[in-house]
Amino acid sequence: MAEVKKEEEKSLNFLEEIVEQDLQSGKYESIRTRFPPEPNGYLHIGHSKSICLNFGLALKYGGKTNLRFDDTNPTTEETEYVDSIKDDIRWLGFEWANELYASDYFENLYEFAVKLIKKGLAYVDDSNSEEIAKQKGTPTEAGIRNKFAERTVEENLQLFSEMREGKFKDGEKVLRAKIDMTSPNMHMRDPIIYRIKHAHHHRTGDKWCIYPMYDFAHGQSDSIENITHSICTLEFIPHRPLYDWFINELEIFPSRQYEFARLNLNYTVMSKRKLLQLVNEKFVTSWDDPRMPTISGYRRRGYTPESIKNFADKIGVQKRENLIDLSLLEFCIREHLNKIAMRKMVVFDPLKVVITNYTDDHELVKSEDNPEDDNTSHREIPFSAELYIEKEDFMENPPKKFFRLAPGQKVRLKSAYIIQCNEVVKDEAGNITEVRCTYIPESKSGADTSGLKVQGTLQWVSIKHAITAEICLYDRLFRVEDPSNEEGDFKNYINPDSLQVIKSAFCEPSLKNAKFDQRYQFMRKGYFCLDKTSSEEKIVFNRTVTLKDTWAKEQKKV
Ligand code: ATP
Ligand code: MG
Repeated sequence: MAEVKKEEEKSLNFLEEIVEQDLQSGKYESIRTRFPPEPNGYLHIGHSKSICLNFGLALKYGGKTNLRFDDTNPTTEETEYVDSIKDDIRWLGFEWANELYASDYFENLYEFAVKLIKKGLAYVDDSNSEEIAKQKGTPTEAGIRNKFAERTVEENLQLFSEMREGKFKDGEKVLRAKIDMTSPNMHMRDPIIYRIKHAHHHRTGDKWCIYPMYDFAHGQSDSIENITHSICTLEFIPHRPLYDWFINELEIFPSRQYEFARLNLNYTVMSKRKLLQLVNEKFVTSWDDPRMPTISGYRRRGYTPESIKNFADKIGVQKRENLIDLSLLEFCIREHLNKIAMRKMVVFDPLKVVITNYTDDHELVKSEDNPEDDNTSHREIPFSAELYIEKEDFMENPPKKFFRLAPGQKVRLKSAYIIQCNEVVKDEAGNITEVRCTYIPESKSGADTSGLKVQGTLQWVSIKHAITAEICLYDRLFRVEDPSNEEGDFKNYINPDSLQVIKSAFCEPSLKNAKFDQRYQFMRKGYFCLDKTSSEEKIVFNRTVTLKDTWAKEQKKV
């Protein structure tokens, strides 16, 4: 098995094969890729796949990657998104060669359009969008070219210039490429390349009232930047002939487009439009809500760049769409956190334990910060006669194989002593208020001469030394695997229990100095990090992930 995996790791993905061929054949001396986000939302985990691919290829083959904001649509784009996108890419650990904006090319693109007009390959059409759609035909029925396609070059140049000057209202005219109304590829049936939109643009302000369509902007922007390999997702396959047509007719740098399958993850949605709805309609608190599949959400939740890059790597580059199991992402983060997280003891739902034979005020016991690390540091934890353990770690009438605390039973308190439960104290209503135990002085961890063997080890905190913290436990945001493919609104499938808050958990005192960039494993609980809202007055932890994959088990119970 290990052998097979090694082989797989060595083999190239299809994009690497193409790049190697192009370099070997001398087609290019070096490669240039680009990551082209539209600044209309925050980046999500799907984008991280594209980022890792574009930056990864250039890194591997000594090339460069541009960050290009695809900001040709003035109405949906905002500077806040531009800033967040840059933050997220940097956080993932990538550096772009140039920060560029498609809107910087508006003048070039305009000239490109003029060139097409001059070649008799573009015309101004006065039809409205319904007429254009109707004349386009269907995939099985050829379209019809209308009379506006007969306009002379001079007339088209004049009208296009007037479109730019603002002589017409939105939708009154469009510029179309003159290609082939009978093409089986609908994108080739005289596509619209410019539309009129009297709208303010986040960078060009009110300079323009005509804006290029995606297809007219993307390939030409690639070409202007000498992008050698323009990588995009599968839905752009039918756009490729048009991409090539523009580049050929304009006689500009021959960038080439290659497509791979987009990353889809189960139990979430990925489109920015849908994520925006979740934010606007307050199903989550913000774009970086730790339940969001955004890079900033994962970051806040405690994911590491390494784990996300490793995940992107594990999925590989596919040519067919599929739905990736969230548990693979969770596996990647557990694997990393297991190596780097500091171990701590925290009790969420306390049960008081009184050690009746412990007469000292307190002592300090030593515990490893990370048993996975051969050179681990240690910390000292105060132990005293009054402790909290987790309520669920005690049962008055336990079933067989309950290896935790019960009357007459012994357990080890992590890094401290073995204790035995002797008495259960209840209030008038019959609720257990404390359990009384004795400790075995010779059983101290690291110096245990008691000869006793116990099965269970529990986390605990000394009551008078404990500090409190709020703990946010997150679960999947949706109840179903593929909410976008369910009947009706995807928001009907939100998991109502995706956030559970423990107002006051009891933590070992060393967590008073918890750091934002440090990751923690709360023993037997999961991996945690400080939330960005955490302060000295109120410490807040997010659960990044549970210790084991519990979802499958819980689903079966339902
Ligand atoms: P969305 O539909 O989520 O809004 P988009 O494709 O419109 O996504 P862009 O900002 O245009 O988002 O995407 C920037 C780059 O990231 C594009 O090259 C796009 O193909 C790629 N990308 C977007 N979503 C995914 C995904 N789920 N998996 C892989 N790549 C993606
Ligand atoms: Mg897009």
